[in-house]
Amino acid sequence: MSVTGLCQICERNEAEHSCPNCGTLACEEHWDEANGLCAQCAATIQRGGDEGTVKPDDLDDDEVMRF
Ligand SMILES: [Zn+2]
Ligand SMILES: [Zn+2]
Repeated sequence: MSVTGLCQICERNEAEHSCPNCGTLACEEHWDEANGLCAQCAATIQRGGDEGTVKPDDLDDDEVMRF
């Protein structure tokens, strides 16, 4: 999959990826391969981290059955 245009983060390098989360075009330098996101989104999820994540233990049995 090829992306045409400049990286929207540095606006200098040619974009290699398109972020599936925010749609930002990112060059190799501003692409987080591990997360499959642009550097901006990768930074956001790393900072936000565990907050807001529902753990299985928080669900009672009825909730689990629906999955
Ligand atoms: Zn860039
Ligand atoms: Zn993004």
